[in-house]
Amino acid sequence: MAGRRLGQHFLIRPCILERIASAACPEAEPLVIEIGPGKGALTSHLLRRAEHLIAIEIDKDLAAHLAEAYAEEPRLTVIAQDILATDLRQWPATVIAGNLPYYITSPILEKVLPLGPPLRRAVFLVQKEVAERITARPGSRDYGYLSVFTRFYSRPEMLFKVPPGAFSPPPKVDSAVVRLTIEPAGERLGITDASRFLTFLRACFAQKRKTLRNNLSRLYGQQALDAQSEAGLRAEQLSLEQFADLYQRLEAFRADS
Ligand code: SAM
Repeated sequence: MAGRRLGQHFLIRPCILERIASAACPEAEPLVIEIGPGKGALTSHLLRRAEHLIAIEIDKDLAAHLAEAYAEEPRLTVIAQDILATDLRQWPATVIAGNLPYYITSPILEKVLPLGPPLRRAVFLVQKEVAERITARPGSRDYGYLSVFTRFYSRPEMLFKVPPGAFSPPPKVDSAVVRLTIEPAGERLGITDASRFLTFLRACFAQKRKTLRNNLSRLYGQQALDAQSEAGLRAEQLSLEQFADLYQRLEAFRADS
């Protein structure tokens, strides 16, 4: 049961493992981090493409087995630790990859994407529905906070789907691989306080069916919202650039009043 709780579904199809590794590292990379290596299925494919690989696995038994299997391989460092409690800034990784434990996909994205350079890309296997939310465009059914958050830090792409039969044991859901090419948008959009902007974004999507006026009036007040042409729209209709624009007007209104 512990395995299920930790999202332990191990990939068993070599061709899929190779596709994930080549999407993560189309060329040799100096330092790669793997999240949740498990029994090391993806690890061996990544090791062929990384000069050094740091694999972070919460399950102490799996981590110990992996470290033992690669005892003669100085290019692999196995760390038995919770990824969410790990300071990823201590390593200048250029790529982060993994077949993620699905129960913590969003917290992992929130930890990884703001790292910025030298990180150049993240390639993750996630639940298909989450991959659709990550890559959704404005106006689509799946577009939400996760889509805009991801776009604020990266250029997301859906690469390919992975059926339950590619895993042992098979999960109950379909999966998909996403590539997130790191492209921090804060500077381009003139946003200096990312955490404040994300608080605004969360508020915009707090109740998806409601208008921005409804969702934002607690933060900025009715008067500020009355002055905005977007107030009657729903958050799902706005692009990242439009959110940034609205945010800056509302912040300016607050500063003036
Ligand atoms: N990469 C392997 C594969 O493809 O066969 C295993 C993938 S499995 C979906 C997810 C892995 O993440 C498991 O080995 C699980 O123990 C590990 N894991 C779960 N929660 C974790 C956490 N908080 N930090 C690090 N690893 C975690």
